[in-house]
Amino acid sequence: MPSTIEETLDRELDVVVVGGGFSGCYLLHKLRQQGFKVLLIESASGFGGVWRWNCYPGARVDTHVPLYELSIPEVTQTWNWTEKFPKSAELVRYFEHVDKVLDLKNDSVFNTKVVKATFNDDDSLWTIATDNGTAYKATWFIPSVGFAAKRLYPDFPGLDDFKGVVHHSSFWPTEGVTYSGKRVGVIGTGSTGIQLVQEMSKDAKALTLFQRTPNLALPLHNVKLTPEMQAENKPRYPAIHKLRLESKGGYDFNADDIDTFDHTPEEREAYLEAKWKEGGFLLWVGQYRDVLTNLKANRETYDFWARKVRAMISDPQKRDVLAPLEPHHPFGTKRPALFMNFYEAVNQDNVHIVDVNKFPIQKAVGSGLVTADGKTHELDILVMATGFDAITGGLKAIDIRNGTGESLNGKWANGTWTNLGLMTAGFPNMFFTYGPHGPTAFSNGPTCIEIQGDWIVEALVYHRSRANKRMEPTPTAEIKFRNLVNDRTN
Ligand code: NAP
Repeated sequence: MPSTIEETLDRELDVVVVGGGFSGCYLLHKLRQQGFKVLLIESASGFGGVWRWNCYPGARVDTHVPLYELSIPEVTQTWNWTEKFPKSAELVRYFEHVDKVLDLKNDSVFNTKVVKATFNDDDSLWTIATDNGTAYKATWFIPSVGFAAKRLYPDFPGLDDFKGVVHHSSFWPTEGVTYSGKRVGVIGTGSTGIQLVQEMSKDAKALTLFQRTPNLALPLHNVKLTPEMQAENKPRYPAIHKLRLESKGGYDFNADDIDTFDHTPEEREAYLEAKWKEGGFLLWVGQYRDVLTNLKANRETYDFWARKVRAMISDPQKRDVLAPLEPHHPFGTKRPALFMNFYEAVNQDNVHIVDVNKFPIQKAVGSGLVTADGKTHELDILVMATGFDAITGGLKAIDIRNGTGESLNGKWANGTWTNLGLMTAGFPNMFFTYGPHGPTAFSNGPTCIEIQGDWIVEALVYHRSRANKRMEPTPTAEIKFRNLVNDRTN
């Protein structure tokens, strides 16, 4: 074993890409096509990014195929899905196929975590150090670690005393967890929490969902796909993938050219009903164009959503917690989950809903969780579906330093500054994808990633053609961009 990182600088590369999800695979392929020497470093044992980690019961994607895939023709033409909204295991198999077709493994290392990256002003090279003691030098450093790379574990007092088992949804044992006949607690009602409840409630003896924020979930309407169905559709894929680039959210639809109050109440009900019936994200970003900019209009959609969902829940207590008459937050300002049988599941007698806004979780004890009403919820298995230190967490987990020794963590301690959601001033030759100030969680991942990826590849080709060794945004550019992002968000 080498004793110092300096002794192990075994390869000089043009680019180091960190992460083997959609971004990493896309960038490795596209950069290699342009003749760059690239190495992809991945902490897991294979490609797939978040889908490799997210193997909890019921995990599946919320964007239908062929929107949720890479647009690379060699891959699309040789792959068939079995469902419109595939499960995580099928996505992992898809990534194996991507690797087979594009031959990505040859330029990748696995089971290796990047722990530090340092830029040197003298030679304009990054030194990228890993947890196994290896280090690499490269002109360009692209941490494509995803927006969900760092787990969020609530730190309830007494958690160590809990005698059952605790699992985070995104670190689910690959061999599975036996929960049949057990008392399961799920904390969190993001997409993950909704999917876990749908699946685990089938076999658990009791399932208690601890909800802080209601999820304004929409129907998914899954369909089985045959190779014949896909063969018929494949000639249209290039057009579908092009449309994805032109729509606002990276899907195959946009908001309609009409405002909420252009319709009479009867017309509005029928219009929203049609969107609900079609399913997916249409009721979120494929309906009236003012739903996310006019609070009064937004309330119309919320009330419609609450009527639909309340009608599905038989127990009045569960109904008021899961779909309250007064919105917890404006509709669509959090990415809604897509449900399959969630509201049927919550109607089951073995499913209990705890409103942790009203009765916060105070502590864990040997037998379960204690809430502020003094009740002990007895559990054998506790599932943290509590999400991630999202967006910047994965980047901040790497000790990234520029030529003056300044760390990215230090720069972003009190906020995030980027230009175009791709680079940050003072950290030359570093790009990130699907991260801060990008469309990220408010968009279809593969679309966002391909737009950003193509931009990065073009930039690198441009600089190579001019023999430029260094690129970074100006502080003025990133302040302007930050203001633009904040204005639009507000
Ligand atoms: P998430 O959306 O961040 O949801 C985390 C949940 O945990 C929230 O309900 C949150 O409540 C709750 N929570 C966190 N800390 C808590 C605490 N101390 N006490 C009680 N509740 C707590 O995480 P996620 O569901 O894992 O999803 C992460 C991202 O992946 C999202 O963008 C999601 O859309 C995406 N995802 C997609 C799919 C899919 O494609 N189908 C599947 C899974 C995930 P608050 O809301 O009150 O903070």
